[in-house]
Amino acid sequence: MTSGSWPYYPVFMRLRGQRVLLVGGGEVAARKLRLLLRADARVHVVAEQLNDELAELCASGEAVHAGVAFEPRQLGGCRLAVAATDDAALNRRVADAAEAQGIPVNVVDDSTLSSFVTPAIVDRSPLLIAISTGGAAPVLARRLRERLEAMLPSAYGRLAAFMHSRRESVRSAAAHTARRAIWERFLDSPAAEQVLTGNEARATSDLQEMAQQRAGVGEAKGEVYLVGAGPGDPDLLTFKALRLMQQCDVVLYDRLVAPEILELVRRDARRMFVGKARSQHAVPQDEINDELVRLAQSGQRVLRLKGGDPFIFGRGGEEIDRLMEHGIPFQVVPGITAASGCSAYAGIPLTHRDYAQACVFVTGHARADGTLDLHWDQLARRGQTVVVYMGLATLPELCARLIEHGLPPDWPAAMIDDGTSPRQRVIAGTLADLPQRVSEANLKGPSLLIVGEVVRLRERLSWRGESS
Ligand code: SAH
Repeated sequence: MTSGSWPYYPVFMRLRGQRVLLVGGGEVAARKLRLLLRADARVHVVAEQLNDELAELCASGEAVHAGVAFEPRQLGGCRLAVAATDDAALNRRVADAAEAQGIPVNVVDDSTLSSFVTPAIVDRSPLLIAISTGGAAPVLARRLRERLEAMLPSAYGRLAAFMHSRRESVRSAAAHTARRAIWERFLDSPAAEQVLTGNEARATSDLQEMAQQRAGVGEAKGEVYLVGAGPGDPDLLTFKALRLMQQCDVVLYDRLVAPEILELVRRDARRMFVGKARSQHAVPQDEINDELVRLAQSGQRVLRLKGGDPFIFGRGGEEIDRLMEHGIPFQVVPGITAASGCSAYAGIPLTHRDYAQACVFVTGHARADGTLDLHWDQLARRGQTVVVYMGLATLPELCARLIEHGLPPDWPAAMIDDGTSPRQRVIAGTLADLPQRVSEANLKGPSLLIVGEVVRLRERLSWRGESS
């Protein structure tokens, strides 16, 4: 979710040597105890009867059997309390008493009585991943944990430990800004792979070399990532886009980039909105170009995040031109352009053996004097699909001119609004009636126009069932 409050605030808590009260003597309590002992807590167990495992842990001194009946004073000096009995009234008494003393409490299987919950955990100590759905869908959390378990090599713990053990030497070799760059290069380099495969000696010397190189050039050198964010659905990002989004220091984004996608940018990165609404350019292109140069020159990794593909009506060419001029390193990451995303999600193939052997992308953005300067003769052709970007405002003129230049008034056309998002709407019609239909639909944009016989295929191929 991009908005709304969190049901729980995520923290990792130090419990080493801290007293924790655990009420319960069965299987569930034993499971809780095992987890608490992983964190070296001093656990006091209160239960009439202990099962074998609990009895053994108490006998060996790893936990303390502190009583048979719960009393609120047992909570004195406790950091946390856990109620894990099958007696609902008792669990409630523990929760109330803990609450009264300001001690965080977890009641097993009762989130309404709990002030904290324990997440699903992926354990690659010292790396720990905690997953919570705030009680909304525990099964989903478990499923996600299984996936992460499968995805993360078990040696990731070793990698984290290795990085911890070399922190001091990197710290003394390089300034703060350079340090993160060194670690990131390390993770991307074969040296990290060496750690995963157990060759730490080799990894150590590689890391030293990286640190020295970095220290030699002084401050980290900035760079720019010109990244296409796709049409809206975050699942349509490329792996590369996601990777660069997660290693930038600052992001410049415009209106077309969906909030769900911005959520995926590294949390610490500074966010700069540079606008671009149809009629109002929040920051002129020249200033954006200058800003990219300035930020990169100050040593930052700058993410220029654009809707769709940066090289399709995205002015990406102008931006990297300026970077070239200043010798700033950059990468360009293509994105799924609105035409691909919208056509796929609307069930309108852009080409088709029988209906369209060509496909043209044009802009419907009017010039300063309000006119549309397009090669109408080339657009008003059978056997091809025309995709118009930025054509919402000029739709009536677009349709009229295509008819004027020879396409029949009943030639199919569709407007796709906010394509690929959950709010996607498709308004289908003909060149003659589409302007009226669209005006009645009161679209918010961004909207993409597709003109051609392929639009008819939608009746058969529409697979997402959105309204029209
Ligand atoms: N670089 C972008 C296009 C930028 S121009 C790309 O490759 O997609 C902006 C225009 O793109 C909008 O006016 C609209 O016509 C189209 N557009 C972008 N995202 C869209 C979406 N999710 N749904 C419909 N049209 C979209």
